[in-house]
Amino acid sequence: MMNIEKKQQVLFVSSEVYPFAKSGGLADVSYGFPRAMSPFFDVEIIMPMYKSIDKKKFGIKPIKLSFKIELGKKKYEVELFATIYNGMKCYFVESKILSNKKYLYGTPESGYKDNDLRFGLFSKAVVEFSKQHKKYDLLHLNDWQSALCALFVKEDASLQTKTLYTIHNMAYQGVFGKETLDKLGLSSAYFDMDALEYYGDINYMKAGIVYADAITTVSPNYAKEILTPEFGCGLDGFLVKHQNKLVGILNGLDLSHFSPASDSALVQNYDTQNYDKKLNNKIAYLKETGLENDALALFVFVGRFTWQKGIEMLVEALDALENQNFNIAILGDGESKYKQQIKEISKKRKNINLFFGYDEELSHRMYGSADFLIMPSLFEPCGLNQLIAMNYGTLPIVSSVGGLKDSVYSLSDFGLNDGYGLGICFDVKTPHALQDAMQKALDLYEEKEKFKEINQHNMQCDFSWKHGSHAYASLYNYLLDSME
Ligand code: ADP
Repeated sequence: MMNIEKKQQVLFVSSEVYPFAKSGGLADVSYGFPRAMSPFFDVEIIMPMYKSIDKKKFGIKPIKLSFKIELGKKKYEVELFATIYNGMKCYFVESKILSNKKYLYGTPESGYKDNDLRFGLFSKAVVEFSKQHKKYDLLHLNDWQSALCALFVKEDASLQTKTLYTIHNMAYQGVFGKETLDKLGLSSAYFDMDALEYYGDINYMKAGIVYADAITTVSPNYAKEILTPEFGCGLDGFLVKHQNKLVGILNGLDLSHFSPASDSALVQNYDTQNYDKKLNNKIAYLKETGLENDALALFVFVGRFTWQKGIEMLVEALDALENQNFNIAILGDGESKYKQQIKEISKKRKNINLFFGYDEELSHRMYGSADFLIMPSLFEPCGLNQLIAMNYGTLPIVSSVGGLKDSVYSLSDFGLNDGYGLGICFDVKTPHALQDAMQKALDLYEEKEKFKEINQHNMQCDFSWKHGSHAYASLYNYLLDSME
């Protein structure tokens, strides 16, 4: 008889998962990564049940598991739901304070005041679920919203479960007042600089860093950067202390979701062999937006309007560019001061199209229509936009930082034979440098054959989870082997 070895059980814990809830790249990773790991492990996903999730649309049903979670002096009712989406089992934690809000974490301007309780509750409920539902060998935690799971696992002597903590962005750490410890019913011993204390407050990310068995971040370069004051967002010294368990692994794309050959959001599907058909998407997109002249280069920007994404730099570069022989389309949402700046510049230029809001299909149409993607990030843990763009034959223009440095290789230094994704990269993060990069892009756009060849080359590069999933599988095995 064939000996079929039982795969080890992994619970992937995330605060957002595409298509149920998405505010950025974490949702894409939480959709694609568990699927990429499923040949090696039995992976299931768990996330909060938000008010915005349409239970009916996704066939989300109760699983007849409910319990009470005690935090401080209060008890919270928790009910578990589940669905199977594209072959992946996803569980949802529903509880009043977690599930009764309009947004996931808060308005674009500020987080909800009770986020400490909401995600403390979520984390404790996940650990309770992992005890009551079935035995998981590994909990893979993501960002501050689930970082406390590592602490709750360590506090429970009955649990042998290993924990892995992935940092997707150092800028979001989950920092709350000192009183949070009492609210969660946690011992005051945690108010210590080697534990959760952070300049007189409580920092959830620190729980992941201290108590998880290993830490990853989303690119090798960001793993180095966050050990420095410039990128560590106040936790660089703390990370240096724990760097023996930190490793950077580059994110990948789920190609079933991001592929121009099969993307149903596109007017025209295309692949490397019929790259010229991409133009039909551009023509349709210009018509949709009222931009004119498909012979002109089309730049796009897709992303959250925060300091990180270099919006100010983009606005200044657009203002300064004398050559206005191009179109640019901007899709995003976020802080109102950036919206205001973008609105102002678009009033001055008729070659700019704006769409404020979140629109998944529109973003796909933009990747499928554009000639260039602009990504002038001041820091970028990994970045998915540049990977999506290259996969859609859209040339990225990026600042050389974080994961952008690990995924986009400069056309000035590398060629088609090197096998890397290519783009226009700039080192100094100034409007002038971006302006120069855009001018280089416009010059390259004139060299039609060369431009096409580079984009076709990028489309043939592998931006999938293939490499990353093997690296994570080795890490999972290393952690699980140390279990016995
Ligand atoms: P982030 O820092 O936001 O996580 P990433 O580059 O890692 O940035 O991932 C961004 C993901 O979110 C990409 O899939 C991108 O297309 C998508 N995205 C960002 N803003 C919007 C928007 N306004 N509408 C649609 N998709 C968006």
